[in-house]
Amino acid sequence: ASREAHSTTSVVEAGSLSVGGNQIGMIAGPCGVESEEQLMTAARAVKAAGATALRGGAYKPRTSPYSFQGMKTEGLKLLAAAREETGLAIVTEVVAPEDVDLVGEYADVLQIGARNMQNYRLLEACGRSHRAVLLKRGASATLDEMLLAAEYILDGGNSKVMLCERGVRTFESHTRFTLPLATVPYLQEKTHLPVVIDPSHGTGHTSLVPAMCRAAIAAGADGLIVEVHPDPENAKSDGYQSLTCEAFEKVMAECRRVAAAV
Ligand code: PEP
Ligand code: MN
Repeated sequence: ASREAHSTTSVVEAGSLSVGGNQIGMIAGPCGVESEEQLMTAARAVKAAGATALRGGAYKPRTSPYSFQGMKTEGLKLLAAAREETGLAIVTEVVAPEDVDLVGEYADVLQIGARNMQNYRLLEACGRSHRAVLLKRGASATLDEMLLAAEYILDGGNSKVMLCERGVRTFESHTRFTLPLATVPYLQEKTHLPVVIDPSHGTGHTSLVPAMCRAAIAAGADGLIVEVHPDPENAKSDGYQSLTCEAFEKVMAECRRVAAAV
């Protein structure tokens, strides 16, 4: 992953998504796939707003076992149908090594969640996949630990790795996590892998997401991953940090202006 290995930032491509170089990847969609109507409404809206990939969890790693766990295979099928209609590449989480092949049949990008950043069997399985990987930082992981986790995937033979800062656990409780945007220039100095920011999990509050999207772009992020839900109040997961489709459209316009200015 070292910058010494490559002087230019690697470009990771997966269908409609291109991250790194001059291309800013804009991944947006619901935290979890909940129904055909919910997913398609979000997919059409984020596409119209200019997103370059659709996110949506089919396997949801939830803090409580009593919370919505995702639609699993049914969710994967809905994601593939959304790609069919919109042309958007699909980013979705895989939580177990034995699911990597199945998820890879439907998705363009395998997301490794914060809780699994150091699940080495999962990293190795993703290293054997030909799908691009979005590796999220563990909530208490150092950046060096994240880079070593990325090495597991790269060393396994998969060079299509994106790093994602999604916030870390600190003493501060006003925000769900604390989002360190210095991660962007730091990782860009240290590694050639593209860096994606997740302002949704990084703040945990819808109202804070637009400013952090703009700030991430100003800091030079190679991409954003943003939670967007047609009806956040009734979302089955993470509604409190999700943008409405209308709010996302506005954020996209703002980000385009910031990108043009920096
Ligand atoms: C998510 O993207 O919905 C998610 C669970 O993220 P994280 O792994 O960063 O908590
Ligand atoms: Mn979420």
